[in-house]
Amino acid sequence: MKKVLSSRPLPFVRPAKLPTNGVSRWQFVAVGRGGIEYVLEFENRGKAIGVSLNHPHAQAYALPFIPPRVRTEIDQFKHYLDEVGLCLVCDAIKNELKTRERVINDSEHFISLIPYGARLPYEVHIYPKKHVQSISDLENTIGEFGEIIADTIKRFAAVFDELAYVMVLHTRPTRGNHDYWHFHVEFYPPWRDRARLKYLAGVESGAWTFTNDSSPEEKAKELRDAI
Ligand SMILES: [Zn+2]
Ligand SMILES: [Zn+2]
Repeated sequence: MKKVLSSRPLPFVRPAKLPTNGVSRWQFVAVGRGGIEYVLEFENRGKAIGVSLNHPHAQAYALPFIPPRVRTEIDQFKHYLDEVGLCLVCDAIKNELKTRERVINDSEHFISLIPYGARLPYEVHIYPKKHVQSISDLENTIGEFGEIIADTIKRFAAVFDELAYVMVLHTRPTRGNHDYWHFHVEFYPPWRDRARLKYLAGVESGAWTFTNDSSPEEKAKELRDAI
């Protein structure tokens, strides 16, 4: 049984009481009031990303602000809804399933893919097919959610010499109404191929502009064929 570790005590966050399964440890609820705007849950794994513990460990940060990356997604989701009248993710899923070029796997309720605008060669996203705002909304599909996460990690393990990734849950902000939000998971493996690291260089670090040495279609195929 893996253990949830936090970088510091989180008095405002506690694991929700849920049936035992592989992902129940991810179900956190913000129970505090007064200033928590966002709960960021993530897992770091592997020496390549600087993890000293030899087992995967999850963390949850309760933040008094909405972090910039999430803020950017909020703006994009709202903009797409205003312009097109649809959820960006729901619409993207529909289109991705037509060609399946960037799709890695999909089940009845979930899909894993490398998005068209992936910043990293192996940046896999997992989306529920149903428009939901948080992991708590997955209800009886939570087991299937765990399966597609495990499937993704298994594919990484088959492709990389060393298994390493950051996995982040992008849930809705803690307070207010966020019906426009589509819950998802993003994986950031640090590899550019089986054994070489993808370094964040000048344009990435200095301009937050990512160059990707490969195509999402090529890497999706590699992961699709991996197991
Ligand atoms: Zn949606
Ligand atoms: Zn996201």
